[in-house]
Amino acid sequence: AGDSKRRVLKDVFGFDDFRPGQADVMDALLAGRHVLAVMPTGAGKSLCYQVPALVLGGLTLVVSPLVALMQDQVAALRLAGVAADTINSSLDREANVAAWRRVASGQTRLLYLAPERLMTERMLDALSRLHVSLIAIDEAHCISQWGPAFRPEYEDLSRLRGIFANVPIVAVTATADESTRTDIAARLFAEQVETLVLGFDRPNIKLAIAPKQDSKRQLLGFIERHAGKSGIIYCLSRKKTEEMAAFLKRNGVTALAYHAGMNKEAREANQNAFMTLSGVVMVATIAFGMGIDKPDVAYVFHTDMPGSLEAYYQEIGRAGRDGREAEAHMLYGLGDIRMRRLFIDDEDASSEHKRRSHRRLDTLIGYCETAQCRRQVLLGYFGEEAQACGNCDNCLDQAPRADGSTEARKILAA
Ligand code: ADP
Ligand code: MG
Ligand code: ZN
Repeated sequence: AGDSKRRVLKDVFGFDDFRPGQADVMDALLAGRHVLAVMPTGAGKSLCYQVPALVLGGLTLVVSPLVALMQDQVAALRLAGVAADTINSSLDREANVAAWRRVASGQTRLLYLAPERLMTERMLDALSRLHVSLIAIDEAHCISQWGPAFRPEYEDLSRLRGIFANVPIVAVTATADESTRTDIAARLFAEQVETLVLGFDRPNIKLAIAPKQDSKRQLLGFIERHAGKSGIIYCLSRKKTEEMAAFLKRNGVTALAYHAGMNKEAREANQNAFMTLSGVVMVATIAFGMGIDKPDVAYVFHTDMPGSLEAYYQEIGRAGRDGREAEAHMLYGLGDIRMRRLFIDDEDASSEHKRRSHRRLDTLIGYCETAQCRRQVLLGYFGEEAQACGNCDNCLDQAPRADGSTEARKILAA
């Protein structure tokens, strides 16, 4: 199997080497084991199931939370000459029927489905008559994070291992603190799973957090220091993304807005502009970004504190994928903490869930307040030990500054 997976990597996808961790995940799957793979954004998680899918033959089911993600991946696979299909709510009936015919006749190698589609009795019944050789759950943190009120079918995925006995299941995610990880392992696999956690460090991203004062001015100053670069600005509300984008435009910045309240055409047009042009600043809510793979994003700027350290990590991970110097900058103030607490308290969720959310928020506040190396704190949270990084505001502030300190010493000595 070692050779055949490398051949697929090269012949189908055109890559010479596996990225860290990919080969381990593939080998475990090819040996028939269930795998939970936790790998950073941009690490190449899709290939971890796409390559085994082609090595194994038969049909691979891929569960994905968003129609846009499925369509992206199917399009990319087809470009590489792979028979991939999706059946989803955005396609018309004929297209879905045609896709199903290809699946049923054994032509399709990878079939992308939302959990809501997959977990219907009709679909499960039809699929269980086919030769399913692998099941992949992409963005698997959704299992743990989307409560039963919102997308109940995510919980239902736990039935898969019973329905498709002897079919290896792989769950991949970039988001997994210890408790999310345990939660996924318990729900999907009843603990019978090999968990692989891969490196989280993204050393080329400079980490910084500043007290929120006049966020518009702070943002504009930051962007002016990165003029001409592509960047993502995250705001808490839809309204604020539009206000910020308008403000930036008035100040000569090529800024676009993106949030779930915009109509589909406008949203897609803005996303396409961001993806294809350079130097576009996307001002967005967290609706923007899942699966976004643009290599030359030079910075991610949070005008508001994110919801958790996991969310923060995933969001800043969209910067610097090309390995060049990039920056993650967050503004943070008391108002953010108050707002986040309110959000949690207002959620329609169990008190246990709320307690967990408050704890997660506390961790994030700890990260914002720390005087230690931020990367050490961030990686430590994900269970990785690290040296002081020299590339975060706290490390850089402690570096002796020739000018200031020697000047001061002279004055004091005088
Ligand atoms: P993730 O889901 O982990 O965020 P993706 O699966 O979207 O990451 O992959 C990110 C990018 O890395 C894609 O453009 C993909 O083609 C590329 N990639 C993945 N594996 C390799 C590899 N072994 N060699 C080179 N590029 C790779
Ligand atoms: Mg992915
Ligand atoms: Zn540091």
